[in-house]
Order: sequence, then structure tokens, then C-alpha cells
Amino acid sequence: MTTLKVADGRVLRPDHTVERADVLVDQTSGEILSVEPDGEGSASADDTLDAEGGLVIPGLVNAHTHVAMTLLRGYADDKPLDAWLQEDIWPVEAELTAEDVRAGARLGILEMIRSGTTAFADMYFFMPEVVAAVEESGMRALLGYGSITVGNDDEAAHQEMQDGLDFAEGYDGAADGRVSTAFMPHSLTTVGEAYLREYVPEAREADVPIHFHANETGGEVEPIVDDHGERPLEYADDIGMLADTSFLAHGVHTDRTEHELLAERDTAVIHCPASNMKLASGMAPVQAMRDRGVTVGLGTDGAASNNDLSLFDEMRDAAMLGKLAADDASAVDADAVVEMATQGGADALGMASGRIEPGANADLAVLDLDRPHLTPAHDLVSHLTYAASGSDVRHTVCDGQVLMRDRTVQTLDADEVLADARERAAALIDRAES
Ligand SMILES: [Zn+2]
Repeated sequence: MTTLKVADGRVLRPDHTVERADVLVDQTSGEILSVEPDGEGSASADDTLDAEGGLVIPGLVNAHTHVAMTLLRGYADDKPLDAWLQEDIWPVEAELTAEDVRAGARLGILEMIRSGTTAFADMYFFMPEVVAAVEESGMRALLGYGSITVGNDDEAAHQEMQDGLDFAEGYDGAADGRVSTAFMPHSLTTVGEAYLREYVPEAREADVPIHFHANETGGEVEPIVDDHGERPLEYADDIGMLADTSFLAHGVHTDRTEHELLAERDTAVIHCPASNMKLASGMAPVQAMRDRGVTVGLGTDGAASNNDLSLFDEMRDAAMLGKLAADDASAVDADAVVEMATQGGADALGMASGRIEPGANADLAVLDLDRPHLTPAHDLVSHLTYAASGSDVRHTVCDGQVLMRDRTVQTLDADEVLADARERAAALIDRAES
């Protein structure tokens, strides 16, 4: 066993109290061995990470993104979802190559490691490339191929669904167990009912988790209600898509019946406030969902609709938007937001992360507190939600391995990743516009 000690920091515990303690990590199993309050921790370790003057938090969980969309960051903004997808995003995505996805995934992962994120859920194309980027970088991820059937003939549609299932079954446990997978039919409107009814039961039988977009815009809810005479999540439940291993992105336009259904099925919702605001999709009723017992995680969605992958920005947005949605300043408070960005996301993704306690995955980040915008420190949970930013992160650890030490990422060559992403993004746009 080799060990790592995260020494002399203030540690955010699962109940959101903060205590001065050393965190001892077993790097071989990738688990937290002990949290030793000041003075008690006498055990020596093979390696030490200095957390003096810092706050040790669970690694943040970005529970819904399309990581390689970093290549499209800033390419098209300020349009509603349908026009944005059809006029700008889909034409460029049609030109994507496997190498582009690898470059975009490495860029996104670099950004996430630098801003304290240690796990993410990704839905995209060329997913073996994302697996390779996760393996190289040392991060943890739940990955899936986003299957779409609209616009495809029957044979191509079947292939899309089969590809999604094959990826999920073939890559679960990759990267020494840091990769888990899910079957990811893109959404309730971009996959035809017949295909959902054929493949969802197969995924459920094989015990494969299911992730999909749902109730993102008002315009997507009405046709489902018209066609099926029921709310979208009732329709999803009829097909068998709601289970305790399932999680859906957005849930913006959801009603009380749907919240009760989600709670009953123990299906998590991933809230993506920045994307919802930027695309004017609406305000998710996060407080109402949490009040009914729905597990809520946080996601950045793709970089083209955000436009960054920092969970700190997402936390602040979630608190602000949650209050507006509930018309109540006490809604979606700082505690709720930190919980969503850590334990909530980890629970949604079925990972034993998101908490600093013995036996949990050794996924954590250390923030510098010695900064003007974090002074004074009346309430560190408040700071995490309202004042901290990704650039405050000094160290990042995932699965017991140090991914960033003193702001230098250890597993990726930052200059090389940036140069590769710039070059590939420029060539991609050239191809799409020619
Ligand atoms: Zn999405």
C-alpha cells in the first residue's frame, strides 16, 4: 500500500461542518483511509500534499456534459436551442472526427481538473476516444454514446441504438475501474418510440444505467403530451426508462406528478442552470424537486452552451436561478448547492465519491482560502457557492492519485493539449464552412 496525506487543511465533512484535519489516502485502493483531526494524525505517508491555509473539499461532480464540445466553445451563441442546434452545432458536429473528439475531451478534462472536478458524465460520439482521454488524465467518468434516431432510416436507427448498447456493455470498468458506462438515448424526442421500446428493456435487463435529456424546453413537452396523452416523464416511465440507476438531464419543464414519479423511482435529475439560462430554456423547479425527495446533481452541459466547464460557476448559477424559480430567496441555499455538486452528483452517477470520509473514493480538491474574494471566512459553504472560483483550486486528487499539484496538472501536458485543441478546432470549422 502506498499512501498520500493531504495535510494541515480545513476539511469539509459530509455534514458540511469544517474541521482542521489530515486526510490519509490509500493510493493502491484509491480510497480514503482516515480523517484525522489536528494533532491526532501521527501516521506518516509516502507522499504529502500541503493543504495549509486551504479548504479540502470532495472533488466536484459534473454530472452532465458533452466534453468534446469544448472545440465549439464560443463558435455560436445567443440563439434559441432549436436554431442553435440546427444552424450551427449539428453542421459542425457532422464533420467531427475521432481525433477531434479526443482533442476536445482532453481540453475539457484539463479544464475540469484545474477547477476541482474529479468526475463527470459524458454523452457524445466516438466515445472510445473519451475513454482514452479519461484513462490518460486519471479522472473518473461515466460515459455513453448519445444515440439519435430522428433523421435516420430504420437500419441506421437500429445501428445507433445498438452502438449505444454495445459501448455501454463493452467499456464498463475501463481505465482500472474509473470508467463506468450508461445507455444514452439522446432524448425523448430525438429517439423514436419504437426504438426506445425495443432497446430500453434490453439495457435494463443487462443492468446498464440509462441517461437521457428530458423536459428541457417547453416546445419539447407539448408534442409528447399531444401524442401520448401524458407528461414526458410518465411516457418515459411507461417505456421503463425511470429506475434507481437512471438519471436525466434538465427536467426544466416538469410538474408535481413528474417529481413524485422521479422520487418514487429514485431517478436523479441533473440540473444545468447555465445552459438553461443561456438557451432561455427556462427555470428548473429545483427546490420543489428536492422537497419531494428527488436526487439532484449539477452539470455544465456542453461548453458551447455555457461556455465553461467550471462547477463553481454552476453552483453560483444554481443558487441564483433556484431562488428566482421558487420566487423565494431561501430556496436552493448554499448547503443544498454544495450537496448537489458533490454527493448529489456522485449518487446520481452511482459513484462512492462526493464525500470526505473513510471508505469513500479518494476524490478531492484543495482550494486556497488566502484570497481577497474569500476573506473573511464566516461561512465556507457560503464561499463555495457564492464566492469561490475554479482558479482557487490548488490541488486535485482522483482515485488517490494527484492530478494537479500546486496548480500544475501532472497527467496532461497543458501546452500540448491547448495547441492540439486550437489546431483541431480551426480545421473543424474550416471543413464545416467550406
Ligand atoms: Zn446535454
